[in-house]
Amino acid sequence: MVLCHVPRWSVRLWACPGWWRPTSTLRALVRPRGPGCPGGASGPLACRMFSKVSSCPPEVMLTQERYPVQRLPFSVVSEEDLAAFEHMVPGRVVTDPEELEVSNVDWLRTARGCSKVLLRPRTSEEVSRILRYCHERNLAVTPQGGNTGLVGGSVPVFDEIILSTALMNQVTSFNSVSGILTCQAGCVLEGLSRYVQEQDFVMPLDLGAKGSCHIGGNVATNAGGLRFLRYGSLRGTVLGLEVVLADGTVLDCLTSLRKDNTGYDLKQLFIGSEGTLGVITAVSILCPPRPKAVNVAFLGCPGFAEVLQTFSTCRGMLGEVLSAFEFMDAECMQLVQQHLHLASPVQESAFYLLVETSGSSTGHDAEKLGCFLEQVLGSGLVTDGTVATDESKAQALWALRERITEALSRDGYVYKYDVSLPVERLYDLVPDLRARLGSQARHVVGYGHLGDGNLHLNVTVDAFSTALLDTLEPYVYAWTAGQRGSISAEHGLGFRKRDALGYSKPPHAVQLMQQLKALLDPKGILNPYKMLPTQA
Ligand SMILES: Cc1cc2nc3c(=O)[nH]c(=O)nc-3n(C[C@H](O)[C@H](O)[C@H](O)COP(=O)(O)OP(=O)(O)OC[C@H]3O[C@@H](n4cnc5c(N)ncnc54)[C@H](O)[C@@H]3O)c2cc1C
Repeated sequence: MVLCHVPRWSVRLWACPGWWRPTSTLRALVRPRGPGCPGGASGPLACRMFSKVSSCPPEVMLTQERYPVQRLPFSVVSEEDLAAFEHMVPGRVVTDPEELEVSNVDWLRTARGCSKVLLRPRTSEEVSRILRYCHERNLAVTPQGGNTGLVGGSVPVFDEIILSTALMNQVTSFNSVSGILTCQAGCVLEGLSRYVQEQDFVMPLDLGAKGSCHIGGNVATNAGGLRFLRYGSLRGTVLGLEVVLADGTVLDCLTSLRKDNTGYDLKQLFIGSEGTLGVITAVSILCPPRPKAVNVAFLGCPGFAEVLQTFSTCRGMLGEVLSAFEFMDAECMQLVQQHLHLASPVQESAFYLLVETSGSSTGHDAEKLGCFLEQVLGSGLVTDGTVATDESKAQALWALRERITEALSRDGYVYKYDVSLPVERLYDLVPDLRARLGSQARHVVGYGHLGDGNLHLNVTVDAFSTALLDTLEPYVYAWTAGQRGSISAEHGLGFRKRDALGYSKPPHAVQLMQQLKALLDPKGILNPYKMLPTQA
């Protein structure tokens, strides 16, 4: 039996009528921010969330039926295996088909496996015992965090065992001098954000899925997100990892040192490895101090050339306090209005920008932002704008950008691309695809982390079609490669994009990756069919 989709995020109403701001009041609106948001969270933007309304969408087609993929010769889970697992993690072996359905289907509802068992270890020792057993028995395993991944990597393709980190959710330590947090891999990002904010720090990453995604999943995907512009990649902020290898060996690289030049930096191998090289069980991460002043502006721009010039001006004038520069096109705004009933705070524009500053001096930051806004409005780069005066308005502005993914998923089947491109070419692929697809697509939209050169290109249609997939791929990948871009900026390759790896990496690099995989996971039991291309 197929379960209706169960909402995993706190449901929250996001209608925000009545706070449209005329441009003339912009300067006056640049004010110190109010206290913490209602509902308990205290830090800037701490309770931005997104919701998924419970409904009963159509059943998701099995991945093995939708795509040409062959099951590899792994063993099949037997009654004896289940008994052995029950011994290892008593009471935490899930075999109920209804419970399993949620973990067999991905967030986008475009990939579906048919796993018969999900395990919920609490400790790395339990993970180690499970993997040692699976390695001996040649049983394939899919590590799963919050299951918010967007490339079909977090769910089985066939009957792989799902190894969930949901119960590995303990904070081990937090050093309030250094800001170094050590925790288990299954801690939910939003919970960690609240925890460190209470101690005047912030997590160095933030994303729309924060209410569900796990820190282990974030590290496994090398998630980028909304604070990348300011705090950089997890490759810099993750200081140490504990990882259980395919044969059950516990690799303890869980140091909390800022500097450590002793040998190869092995943790880097696992950051972004999407569960194919080991199961991340604990993370040590550097948290920056919580900014005392955060301002959010939402602006309308007449064209993409103006978007780019606004970005240059912004970098020049806001410099050290700039913490986010996000963009979305008019069709994105249309979709969040249509599907989520969010209201635009500015007049209709071709593009919209969300600019956030985070600094330590309220007056100084507000003045800088005010000067910047005067400049871009005065020069016509920006035609309309609003600045959040308090926490709830800042959240509402962020919701317009953060909830685009959700609005798209309500529009139909979504073909998702997440590419890195030279910033001056960032939007070119969107009109190109609109012309190429014509009436075959409902919507072709572009939005993303402009400050990081990262475009999220999405095509929505009534239903999945192989013919349309063939029109899109490899066209999008070849186009991106032609600009020396990356076919996956931050979502990873997962199941859906693994065969496109060659568009971004040379054959020798792909071969070396395959050798590393064979070295660390000789039987290939960890997240098979993911990240690395199908081998002939
Ligand atoms: C609304 C929305 C907004 C998003 N915004 C962003 C964004 O701005 N930036 C961004 O980068 N991504 C974004 N994502 C994608 C997704 O949230 C990230 O990829 C996130 O890091 C996945 O974390 P997770 O815990 O849900 O991992 P899962 O989805 O469960 O797993 C993702 C991959 O990591 C592996 N994995 C998970 N946990 C472990 C572990 N402990 N050890 C080893 N492997 C593991 C899985 O096998 C899988 O391959 C968004 C998703 C949604 C739904």
